Amino acid sequence: MSDLIYDLHCHSTASDGALPPAELVNRAKQQGVGVLALTDHDTVAGLAEARQAAQECGIRLVPGIELSAGFDNHCLHIVGLNIDPANGRLLEGIARQQVTREERAQKIAQKLVKKGIPDAYPDLRAAAGNGEITRLHFADFLVKHGYVETQQDAFDRYLSKGKPGYVPTAWTALAECVDWIRQAGGVAVLAHPLRYKLSTKWLNKALAQFVAAGGQGIEVVTGRASIDDIRLSYGLALKHGLYASQGSDFHAPGNQYVELGRLAALPAGAEPVWNLF
Ligand code: AMP
Ligand code: MN
Ligand code: MN
Ligand code: MN
Repeated sequence: MSDLIYDLHCHSTASDGALPPAELVNRAKQQGVGVLALTDHDTVAGLAEARQAAQECGIRLVPGIELSAGFDNHCLHIVGLNIDPANGRLLEGIARQQVTREERAQKIAQKLVKKGIPDAYPDLRAAAGNGEITRLHFADFLVKHGYVETQQDAFDRYLSKGKPGYVPTAWTALAECVDWIRQAGGVAVLAHPLRYKLSTKWLNKALAQFVAAGGQGIEVVTGRASIDDIRLSYGLALKHGLYASQGSDFHAPGNQYVELGRLAALPAGAEPVWNLF
């Protein structure tokens, strides 16, 4: 048995995280993490810097990604772990996702203009640098300019499905996202299974499709998971024969509930996904 702390889901400034990759890795080290996967939204751009920092401070970096995947008319998040970030098929796929993200960001900004909010796109493009723009950037913009008080308000009033700034998006289908990860030698993991507002029946349908496509893991422990959440997620793992993953989904310092490496233990008997790499 090893006492290593694994955190297999987090974000840097390459997508919607607040810390540059090297700072993120150093913070993980300070928090006692032994194995960290950086899993930015639809990009591998942070991995080189993270790898370098991990070598310097002596933690193991698992190259990862979090892909936005279409299922029915929902967007599911598929974490790819232990991928080869230089794989051509994966890179082609990501390039497509990035075009989708960019076009969606412009459309969201235009929808907000109709609600009397000046075009956010130039600001966000500047704020995100070369990174991917996500709805979290919009949420921060809306807070910063006083349209809402909190990120959560921004989602509740503008950015969630059915709200004025929501743009239905044709993400790459679930099976294809899983395939890209497999092609890149990685393990595909369904992220935060209880966050999609899917009925049990549809969640099981999604998981059946995920497994048929080559998906191998599911997040059983996430940053904010309650004991009941963990039990439910582990039930899904058992039902579909999936390995169990754990990750904080850390985005920024200052959230008292989510910190790198601060995770409940996997249920006794669970097969950890890191046995695969
Ligand atoms: P996107 O992938 O562009 O749709 O953006 C999704 C990101 O927004 C997620 O990865 C979270 O970082 C963030 N997010 C989604 N829903 C919420 C919420 N209700 N409150 C705060 N952040 C959220
Ligand atoms: Mn995010
Ligand atoms: Mn996610
Ligand atoms: Mn995430």
